[in-house]
Amino acid sequence: MDKLLRVDMTNRTVTDEPLPEDWRLLGGRALTAKILLSELDPTCDPLGAEAKLIFAPGFLSGSMAPTSGRMSVGAKSPLTGRIKEANAGGQPGQHLMRLGYRALIVEGKPADGEARWLLEIDSEGVRLKDAAELKGMRNYPAAEKLHSSYDKRASFMLCGPAGEMGLTGASVALTDVDNHYPTRHAARGGLGAVMGSKGLKAIAIDPGKTHFRKAEREAEFKELFRNFSKEYRAGKQPLKNGTAAVVPAAHMMSTLPTRNRRMMQFEHHDKLDGAHILANYETRGGKQHGCLSGCIVQCSNIINDPEGHYITSALEFETLSLLGSNCEIGDLDQVARLDRLCDDLGLDTIETGGAVAVAMDAGALEFGDSAAAIKLLDEQLDTPLGRAVGNGVVATCEMHGITDRIPAVGGQGLPAWEPRSLPATAITYATSPMGADHTAGLVIRTKNPDLAQASQFAQVVNMVCDSSGFCQFQLPRLDEIRAFLNALFGADLDGEEIYRYGFDALQDEWEFNRRAGFTNADNDLPGWMRTEPVPSNDAVYDATPETLERVYQANYDESILRMRSSG
Ligand code: SF4
Repeated sequence: MDKLLRVDMTNRTVTDEPLPEDWRLLGGRALTAKILLSELDPTCDPLGAEAKLIFAPGFLSGSMAPTSGRMSVGAKSPLTGRIKEANAGGQPGQHLMRLGYRALIVEGKPADGEARWLLEIDSEGVRLKDAAELKGMRNYPAAEKLHSSYDKRASFMLCGPAGEMGLTGASVALTDVDNHYPTRHAARGGLGAVMGSKGLKAIAIDPGKTHFRKAEREAEFKELFRNFSKEYRAGKQPLKNGTAAVVPAAHMMSTLPTRNRRMMQFEHHDKLDGAHILANYETRGGKQHGCLSGCIVQCSNIINDPEGHYITSALEFETLSLLGSNCEIGDLDQVARLDRLCDDLGLDTIETGGAVAVAMDAGALEFGDSAAAIKLLDEQLDTPLGRAVGNGVVATCEMHGITDRIPAVGGQGLPAWEPRSLPATAITYATSPMGADHTAGLVIRTKNPDLAQASQFAQVVNMVCDSSGFCQFQLPRLDEIRAFLNALFGADLDGEEIYRYGFDALQDEWEFNRRAGFTNADNDLPGWMRTEPVPSNDAVYDATPETLERVYQANYDESILRMRSSG
């Protein structure tokens, strides 16, 4: 029977609980939202003892469904003060589900703030162990040390030094399936700081000899698996070369942030083109691979230096733009080193890149000075500037007295996809419970003239996708996810019901934010985006309050079933 695992860090107890029957179909993001809304006082201190940190694999994780083992991490965000879900690949989602845990709830806080703990989860049970020897350790050496102590199948989730320092740009790192590197991150919203506040340095999950989760209608599930995989492999596979390949198109569409978003095209964009990554495989080594078992997309790139030594993995479009073009760093290898540092320290590359660009714009560093940016993160994180950057875009603006041009929405730094150039995405950033988050409902192109409706559809599709454990890069349609859910649970959700599944989960998140003190009037883009045009296309943000308001009203439409998720 599926369970919830509750870990109390105050008393250091672990308890299994049955999954409430009402939550049987929930997983991933929808489940983190349900638990947080049910159990947490939304006005609480996100780094206090009453705060909770939820790890919930998607409902398909641990099954044979392709590319479906992703993990949702949820909490009240110390960055935004709102609800937060950050979704990551890697192997822990597969393992937690194979052990029968639909969610792990971490609560309480140790009296000794200097103590560090390791949570072990395996088929024998669950235990907390002293982890003093890991204190302050960066993610790569910590993952290597842990990996050497466990069965080779084990996976890990880690709080890096940034999380231990309580920095609100801190991520939670997950290890990948191939090399067990800590390269997959539940990056956004400062969830690493929540993990750090609980003294939880790492979680080790050993699945032992557990098997794939079985579906209620197994024959139907297997047929779905076969047909879906066959169709995917026969199709265009638009993201098989990774999101880094998007850089030239983003430049063309004026959505490649440059010089702290003062421009949205970068003169050296060709140097950041992901095509170089593919070409370098021949001379440097490296390859495309899947970050979790069963991934048929294999979008993750492994980046080596010119001598063939590993630098980092999954150098993605968002990182290339925020830490690259937005800082006017037109050198792929230097951006790869910054990405490696963020992974090692446990920092969100989007928030960190946005903050470094603000610091450059304010004159604290020179635009394009990659050596200074590397030094800031590598050696100066515990200085006032380093801490401001580690605390994100808004904190860095505050440090420099910037009040009229803050590139953030809802307290969270803007992703690369530019809302002035992509008006439906602008509506998503304004209304999403997550603030500025491209994975919450990116709309690059739409034939729908009703942009509020297009944004709502995208937000619902992405919610359902992130609840399923499917990777958005596989671009599953809502009706495909519905078919897998029905076969897995023996359910019979129709088209409107799967839409309602996603919309209800969004309602849970909006309700959490309302109880935390935010109203719909707080959900908007910063004023400077209405008056400062993108130089290359003259676009400004112009959504009206009435347009934004319509996103909160459910709009069921059969066309949703034909939409693919994007991200
Ligand atoms: S498509 Fe990419 S990000 Fe998604 S699971 Fe596969 S390797 Fe990971």
